[in-house]
Amino acid sequence: MKKAGHNMDAILNKFDSKLFDSLSKSSSRLYFYYSDMKTNTATWSESAVEYFGLPSQVLAPGTIWDERVHPDDLEVYQKSFEAMIKGETPYHNCEYRAKNAEGNYVWVNCLGYMTYNEDGSPDFFAGFVTNMGTVNKIDSVTGLRTVNVFRSDLDRLFSEKICGAAVQIDIDNFKRINSRYGYDFGDKVLYAIGSKVAEIAGNPGRVYRADGAQFAVIFKDICETRVTRNFLTDFHRSMKNALEQIRVNGITLRFEFKMGVTLFPTDGDCIDQIQNNIYYAIENAKNTKSDAPVFYSEELYAKRNEHIRLTDAVRTSVENHIEGFRIVLQPIIDAETGKLSSAEALLRWRNPAFPKASPMDFIPILEESRNIVPVGKWIIDTALRTVAEWSKIDTPVKLKHINMNFSYIQFMDESLEDYVVEKLDEYGLPRNTLIAELTESCRVEYTDKLAKILQKFHDDGIQIALDDFGTGYASLMVLKDIPADIVKIDHTMTRTIRNREKDRNIVEFIIAYCNNMDIDVCTEGVETDEILGVVKTAGAKYIQGYYYDKPLELDEFFEKYLKNGYTL
Ligand code: C2E
Ligand code: CA
Ligand code: CA
Repeated sequence: MKKAGHNMDAILNKFDSKLFDSLSKSSSRLYFYYSDMKTNTATWSESAVEYFGLPSQVLAPGTIWDERVHPDDLEVYQKSFEAMIKGETPYHNCEYRAKNAEGNYVWVNCLGYMTYNEDGSPDFFAGFVTNMGTVNKIDSVTGLRTVNVFRSDLDRLFSEKICGAAVQIDIDNFKRINSRYGYDFGDKVLYAIGSKVAEIAGNPGRVYRADGAQFAVIFKDICETRVTRNFLTDFHRSMKNALEQIRVNGITLRFEFKMGVTLFPTDGDCIDQIQNNIYYAIENAKNTKSDAPVFYSEELYAKRNEHIRLTDAVRTSVENHIEGFRIVLQPIIDAETGKLSSAEALLRWRNPAFPKASPMDFIPILEESRNIVPVGKWIIDTALRTVAEWSKIDTPVKLKHINMNFSYIQFMDESLEDYVVEKLDEYGLPRNTLIAELTESCRVEYTDKLAKILQKFHDDGIQIALDDFGTGYASLMVLKDIPADIVKIDHTMTRTIRNREKDRNIVEFIIAYCNNMDIDVCTEGVETDEILGVVKTAGAKYIQGYYYDKPLELDEFFEKYLKNGYTL
């Protein structure tokens, strides 16, 4: 080994003077240092002092730098040092995480060279630290590895024939954090979430930041499908618990997320395939609103293709003048009199290639493509025109109200309110003919903007009904924000009354609470005598359900309810 101690003083002098200063200033992502091994004092460039929050440029003997190294990386770091001290190698080349002035860990690469005295003892050590956050390997916000590294890591695992699982985690609705608290805060939240993922993924996992509020994890050496599934289900559960409470700047935030998983090499052994698989899994989690982890499978792939075909067919129908769509009407009965009070217009779509497609399939597709906006207008026009035409026919019973469903996206169309009012006027119908049902999407994304629009509808005289109560996010709290005249208890909730005492209590409580606030309740999904009795006693004003009728074709509805004046 070459010993270079003899001209150290000269070098030191140079470092002391201009060379070190100019090197220090040459780059904002390189931090220079040198150490006199005799006194064990280290000198750092100004930029390092600033970035890592060091107490001063010259660090007295001790462990000030070591304390900045991430505990998990300390071993690697120290090993490299020991090798130099022992004279095994004069080179120091080590990647580890170091804590910066803000208290966040960033990945750094530390390169250095040791020179030795004649007797072989360490004399002088110099080098520089590169902040990898600025060289595309490490994400500067979270301190995690980037997608580039994810890809190269996977490539390496493939070539070494190592098996494992690739996981993606998408945080729901992260946008709202940035818009509510600003980007700086958003970055801190991402850092906090990223750290949590890394903590939970632990040793077998390696965590990466993907786009936006997405994280990826590679778990290697878990190869048996069933074991992997159990392991990842546990991982998912821990993530769920952790994301219930993320604390940043004294604020506690709660996040939901979607998780997609693909196994390698079982599901694929090239990077593009793995990324596609994860994409399908996450997409499926989003479409099915699943909060369980979704594992890629062949069936999932087939389902996805079917979904794409369905999406194309729905789009084509809309483009061909709403071809194949029609509305059906389900009666809404006044609980006290047993007479017809209103009818809910429900959308249907007929396509020979998709005989089983239900609103649950095609409404989300219409919403996603925003085609629900033109189709919604078509429903408004068709339904109001029908009511107006029927009102001119002499029948013993009249249809005075009509319920229509509105998605959040429809309200975000600026022209909706004018359109509705114009149509009511055009057909000569009183404004209160229309009862606008706000579907779940309106509650999930309830904003000040929506509140203003709803107030306008309300001021116009249009009635507002809150749909799907008892499902998803619905809480009684929303009633203080939304100007609701009617609350509709969802059919999924009503149907369970018979089997579960608790559900029955909830339904009774909601009805009592709403009535107390002067809000009428409509119970959907009433199928039996028994349930009818329960909800009537509890004070529901309106009843809808198979007990009376399924949704009927327009002519059927007209015959039965208006012409023949059917009452129960
Ligand atoms: P929703 O608004 O909760 O509509 C009630 C759903 O419950 C309807 O299903 C109806 O057929 C069903 N239903 C009514 N009575 C009973 C019953 O006694 N038992 C059971 N099991 N089910 C009953 P449908 O027509 O399949 O509609 C499903 C969902 O699709 C609707 O739920 C609504 O969210 C959406 N949807 C339907 N038509 C439209 C529309 O024109 N626009 C929008 N935005 N959404 C619509
Ligand atoms: Ca509805
Ligand atoms: Ca409903």
